Amino acid sequence: MAATSAPLDAAMTLGPATTAPHVGATHAPTLTPAEIVRRFATTAPRYTSYPTAPHFRADFDADAVRQAYATARGPLGLYIHVPFCERRCLYCGCHVEVARDRSLGGAYVDTLLRELDVQTTLTPISADRPLSVVALGGGTPTWLAPADLARLCAGIRARLPDHAGCEWSIEVDPRSLDDAGAEALCELGFTRFSLGVQDLDPGVQRAIGRPQPAARVERIARQLAASAPRDGLNFDLMYGLPQQTVGTMRATVRAAVAMGPTRFAVFGYAHVPWLRPHQRGMERTPLPDDAARLDLMWAAREELIAHGYLPLGLDHYALPSDPLAVAARQGRLGRNFMGYTDRGQAQDSDGKALDVDLLAIGASAIAQVGDAYAANTTDRALWAARVDSGTPAWARAYLRSDDDKRRGAVITALLCDLRVDKAAWTARFADHGQGDFDEAFADELQALAPYFEAGLLRQDASTLAIQGDGWLVARNVAAAFDRFLDGGQARYSRTV
Ligand code: SF4
Repeated sequence: MAATSAPLDAAMTLGPATTAPHVGATHAPTLTPAEIVRRFATTAPRYTSYPTAPHFRADFDADAVRQAYATARGPLGLYIHVPFCERRCLYCGCHVEVARDRSLGGAYVDTLLRELDVQTTLTPISADRPLSVVALGGGTPTWLAPADLARLCAGIRARLPDHAGCEWSIEVDPRSLDDAGAEALCELGFTRFSLGVQDLDPGVQRAIGRPQPAARVERIARQLAASAPRDGLNFDLMYGLPQQTVGTMRATVRAAVAMGPTRFAVFGYAHVPWLRPHQRGMERTPLPDDAARLDLMWAAREELIAHGYLPLGLDHYALPSDPLAVAARQGRLGRNFMGYTDRGQAQDSDGKALDVDLLAIGASAIAQVGDAYAANTTDRALWAARVDSGTPAWARAYLRSDDDKRRGAVITALLCDLRVDKAAWTARFADHGQGDFDEAFADELQALAPYFEAGLLRQDASTLAIQGDGWLVARNVAAAFDRFLDGGQARYSRTV
């Protein structure tokens, strides 16, 4: 559930600025998590891009996007979106096409490979620009029949130079895989498996329309873990679902930990029935309120930390050996349409950081190449027709300005590292005619006064840093640097 259209991203309104903000003042954090959420948590974008997908334009300049592809020189990543699912889970917020007939997958794979041909004519492909990551998301990539999946993997390898360190990741629905399917994924060369677990409690599973016996999850997880490289298994969990209690949440996390993943993502359920009407089916049982959501998330967090997982960013946890934890220790944690990644950057021969150029294929997939974001149409028939005519299937796009890049760097640093290195920011953006960090963002820092005063933010000459449990509202802090928010479009997901 990664690089697709991102309908749940949204705006927020910061708390009111005081008349005399003490920017830079340091206060000991005194608020409890519940008080922080009560006072500061609203809604905010998830910021897997900046600007966020709702700001991509339908009236984009296609020649300029092509130019961005033609001049991009970063290492390559490839995201492949498979929109099909056998049935729709009630909580789902993704672009999904419910389909029982798996024979549709053959034609879909053919079109994916044709689209890859279209994409690779737009950007230079060479042996010194190898793939660093291939990610299959959805929808349900494991909805594809094994033979179609094998053909897709072989087609990618035939078109793009792979290298030994390339990560091949795939989102796995344990319900769509049998023992032979799990073995086949390992034989195809996948090295990271992301299992959509969400919750292991049968009552919660009934309420969210995703019956998934824990024994089946465990069987698939153990099989993948046994065949995959070390540290190759992650689980997605979700809080804020009907029927969840602190007790069921703790039990789910303990049972999930015992299945051996080295990484967890713990996402808050985003209830947006005005965008996803099927979510009304979740309203048959009361949804947890803000306070209950916090308790659920906190219970999961405590359990994971007690079992040795390190908190990363906003919602990830990993054992110290996991590549994401290693990247965080080394200051390399990145964020793009795939979420948190240790593959967002590479270094050129001079040691300069280069962003990965993320090509994206499939209906609704979103690419980030050079300065361009480009989102494919969500209409599968239109997508196929565009690809068949030899043109990109972009429906919306955006070309980042220098101002977007300098703001995006701050937002990414806050969400990945919970801090901004002001000197590094100034060194990177000085040639864009900006002053130093404090000058460039004087207004934003002023607007953040309530966070400073509450002890959730601290700054000195070199660093702006989120303090204590201020990470709970890091998305709100990041949103202060978002020039696209006008406070009037807050129809988005809660920050906690
Ligand atoms: S399997 Fe995932 S993508 Fe498919 S409907 Fe369920 S939540 Fe949505």
